[in-house]
Amino acid sequence: MIFNSRIPDVFIPNVDISTYCLSKGKASHDSLMMKTDYCIKDYYTKRSFSIIDLEVYSAGLASGLMNNLNFKKDDVLAIFSQNSIFYPIAIFGTLMTGGVVTLANPTYNARELAHQLKDSGATIIATQSALLDTVKGAISLGNFDIPDSKIMLIDTCKNEADEAQHISDIYSDLPFTRYIINDQFEAENKIAVLSYSSGTTGLSKGVMLTHKNILTSVIITSDFSYADGQYDRSVAPPVFVSMLPFYHIYGLVANLFIGIVYSIGMVVLPKFDIHSFLKLIQDERVTFAHIVPPTIVSMINEPATGKYDLSSLRFAMTGAAPLGKEVLARFCQKFKNVSIIRSYGLTEASPTICISGKNYPFDGSSGVLLSNTQAKVVDENGVIVGVGQVGELCFRGTNIMKGYLNNPKSTKDTIDSDGFLHTGDIGYLDEKTNIFIVDRMKELIKYKGFQVAPAELESLLLLHDDVAESAVIGIYHENMATELPKAFVTLTSLNTTLTGSQKIEKANQVLTWINGQVAPHKKLRGGIQVVDVIPKSASGKILRRELRDAEKKKLYSL
Ligand code: AMP
Repeated sequence: MIFNSRIPDVFIPNVDISTYCLSKGKASHDSLMMKTDYCIKDYYTKRSFSIIDLEVYSAGLASGLMNNLNFKKDDVLAIFSQNSIFYPIAIFGTLMTGGVVTLANPTYNARELAHQLKDSGATIIATQSALLDTVKGAISLGNFDIPDSKIMLIDTCKNEADEAQHISDIYSDLPFTRYIINDQFEAENKIAVLSYSSGTTGLSKGVMLTHKNILTSVIITSDFSYADGQYDRSVAPPVFVSMLPFYHIYGLVANLFIGIVYSIGMVVLPKFDIHSFLKLIQDERVTFAHIVPPTIVSMINEPATGKYDLSSLRFAMTGAAPLGKEVLARFCQKFKNVSIIRSYGLTEASPTICISGKNYPFDGSSGVLLSNTQAKVVDENGVIVGVGQVGELCFRGTNIMKGYLNNPKSTKDTIDSDGFLHTGDIGYLDEKTNIFIVDRMKELIKYKGFQVAPAELESLLLLHDDVAESAVIGIYHENMATELPKAFVTLTSLNTTLTGSQKIEKANQVLTWINGQVAPHKKLRGGIQVVDVIPKSASGKILRRELRDAEKKKLYSL
């Protein structure tokens, strides 16, 4: 059966993201009594922008990009930065030119960044002073034609000693033609954001998200979780902590865009550590925190939470990775005034698929199917199954990506001829359309909500002289509430005479080597193990489930 959302559909206008977010944001700001005097603020420097500042500076950037940097419609600007109050300006400014933004993880090394720059075809980079060396490294590695004049810094404060120009140096007041969408075809087809995801298999791919995709997500997510009276604005202005990275679709849509649209003050914390996070909540009277399951664990385990006044915090939304029942119960026990809102989604769905309503009792589900969205569940024989029956979760709606960039095969393998996105997640829906995630059949590993593509680590491992074959899987670590990537390798014939302890030593050498090649979230925190054979199907596909089962039973200990 096809499941329709039980929430009534809402109207999604055919407009562009900048127009929608900035005009709605201004209207919310003007109409609301209880609001912060800033739209987005840096926690450390207290530098802030109002919604009007965002509009004016974004237009200034758009003019500078078009008039002085020869940036044109459909050109791509890469943002490689931690969260910063200039991040939305870089996004809206680019979109006002008709350009596309691609958002890169700021912990990437030069090789990883080069992959995204090349794949996306970015011609301008917005970054931070501390990341300039990585940017330069990526440019020379990929031999890209990106001169210094096309690199700009989006650090909170301009520093005269910086080696690159600041974004504010690019602003121009020359006239320019602002890109505006007002028809359905353009809204549904014009790419706005190129996020990166490995999808169900292989390496990281460009996820083409249109203006319509993103606005659908902003509207259906906020309509359910933010606009239904979860904020009592008569008590205090709502405040978000903007700690989840804006480069990830969860931080971008659920935090940044929704914060702007609903005039919710956003306080930027560029890098998470539990004490800064708790102190920020106290100092800025945060009412709503977007977090991931490992943040919940840190909050539970932190003995000093009592030192902070967290009384303003009313809601915490969790998503991006599974949340265990036990962990949730412990959180509710410790933070009695905080309601947890659960959610599930994926980059390819811009991202949110389901959210649990406020005060909804924990039934193991990740929430209820959002409006404007349909679901079907397909069993291993490709048969569509019904209520309560387990299979691959598939979704359809205007929030589903246009496809993978320059990759029609992966697009076809992921979106079927009926327009349903095959998620690679295993689960079921109950009669109320609550969604239960029970497993994951795709290769993807999630370390603290960050994507780790096994295919990337496997091919890197093969570059090591001692490794003949490799397979990488995720091992769930209960206490950390996250998966840890673990590798299994067979050694080359040169190593056949090694004893058990020599093999362990060799494995450790490979581990140290590979951990030096990748961004921190991809490190093999689950370890590495030498095995005699990697289980494979007749067609040569790694049998990951066998490895996972063997790992659970500890079959492979040396
Ligand atoms: P990303 O595209 O980085 O957002 O990753 C999406 C994937 O994260 C999903 O396909 C799931 O495998 C996983 N995921 C996201 N939210 C949840 C959740 N609430 N429970 C279990 N897995 C989740």
